[in-house]
Amino acid sequence: MNHDLNRRGTQNRGAAERREQEFSPLTYRLCPRCLRAVPGHSPERYCVNDGTKLLSACPVCQAAILSPYTLFCAGCGRPFAAEP
Ligand SMILES: [Zn+2]
Ligand SMILES: [Zn+2]
Repeated sequence: MNHDLNRRGTQNRGAAERREQEFSPLTYRLCPRCLRAVPGHSPERYCVNDGTKLLSACPVCQAAILSPYTLFCAGCGRPFAAEP
């Protein structure tokens, strides 16, 4: 009895998380070396061109990356390209 209640609670939480993702804006991850962008739901965590860890948000102000053509942070203006 208690076990059934616990399992139902877990399922409800999962459904709520899926709804939040549907309403959140589409975000991208960006390679700071070659500026290649991948969709935020992509399983890629590292750039397949150069192995650099992709940025999922601005490392300075945490603003989300909302365009695949982003070169500068929309929140603080910092360039995403890494220093050479
Ligand atoms: Zn890259
Ligand atoms: Zn920023």
